[in-house]
Amino acid sequence: MTATSAISFTHDVTERFLRYVVIDTQSDPASPSCPSTAKQKDLGALLARELQALGLADAHLDEHGYVYATIPATTDRPVPVICFCSHMDTSPDCSGADVKPQIIRNYQGGDIVLPADKTLVIRAKDNPALADQIGHDIITTDGTTLLGADNKAGIAEIMDAARFLIANPDIRHGAIKILFTPDEEIGRGVDKVDLKKLGADFAYTMDGETAGHIEDETFSADAAVISITGVAAHPGFAKGKMEHAIKIAAEIVARLPKDAAPETTEGKQGFLHPTGISGALEQATLSLIVRDFTDDGLREKEALLQSIVDDVLASYPHSTASIAISQQYRNMKQVIDQHPHGVDYAVEAIRRTGLTPVRGSIRGGTDGSRLSFMGLPCPNIFAGEHAFHGRTEWVSVQDMEKAAETIVHLAMIWEERST
Ligand SMILES: [Zn+2]
Repeated sequence: MTATSAISFTHDVTERFLRYVVIDTQSDPASPSCPSTAKQKDLGALLARELQALGLADAHLDEHGYVYATIPATTDRPVPVICFCSHMDTSPDCSGADVKPQIIRNYQGGDIVLPADKTLVIRAKDNPALADQIGHDIITTDGTTLLGADNKAGIAEIMDAARFLIANPDIRHGAIKILFTPDEEIGRGVDKVDLKKLGADFAYTMDGETAGHIEDETFSADAAVISITGVAAHPGFAKGKMEHAIKIAAEIVARLPKDAAPETTEGKQGFLHPTGISGALEQATLSLIVRDFTDDGLREKEALLQSIVDDVLASYPHSTASIAISQQYRNMKQVIDQHPHGVDYAVEAIRRTGLTPVRGSIRGGTDGSRLSFMGLPCPNIFAGEHAFHGRTEWVSVQDMEKAAETIVHLAMIWEERST
């Protein structure tokens, strides 16, 4: 028995969650502003007000739509400053307006039919995580919108943990920073973050899926844009002259490896994936994303892409094609491995909540991948969100409570281990 396991938790995470998900915060990749949609500030302003009301004097929403706050230390020990981070926006892939959440109490297994659209079913066979939810309370929408558990579950958990820590000043912890970001779903979540103002040494995003999981690895990601210049000629007089840029682009796509595509890979396998094609006779542009868990793997895929382009162009002697590679993000493990205790503490915190910790990797990027390379190591802890970005999204009350407890334990462990 550790002293910490004697904590008796009270929660308001569910009330908070239900309050936050009805605020539409969908982000918009076509908008150049930050935040991309002004409505994200509606939630930001509410959160800043609620943090103020909890007694966090520095809580505020800045002009770019970021919310910052500090839970002051309750210890004299020098403890590194840790930060908990979640994003306020929801995916542009699915409506987040007029979210009508429903709670299924004491779930007893089986499929969940959504009330407003009976054709929409959260199937147990498609959601293996539902098997661990027997007896739990599951929150879904009515089936007309996404739920927004990605990532308002994380926000509600951080708010619940903050309220709990402030109400229990006898729990010893160092200074804790809270950061809520806009526009994560469109890849711009940390564009305007002020890390100097934040002043944290180590951070955790609360944006993972299954209870008990912590992820300290993400894809490394590049973008590739191939610019093709063919040879134009009048179609009636083109024999032996015309080299069609669209056909060159199509040939490149046709030769992409079938066994290194999103639809044929999983786990630690990477891929080459076309995301856009546009063009006419003389000019065409082909956009791709490149994903792998290692830098070497990225370079191999990019070399393969170059050899495909060279090979195709060999049949078009008067055409040219150039590839421009740009970095999107890197596997956070490269940074986090230099601070292994931050992940070890999270594993211990998850264990103290009674869950079995599982370390894993994400086939995608997080705000944490970019924060890590900006100098703030930032693994990702479960928030309990499932089937996100769609109308069958769900989360369980009990998983959100465990995530909030993980935050509290984590704050205590950083203090215990500091001397
Ligand atoms: Zn998310």
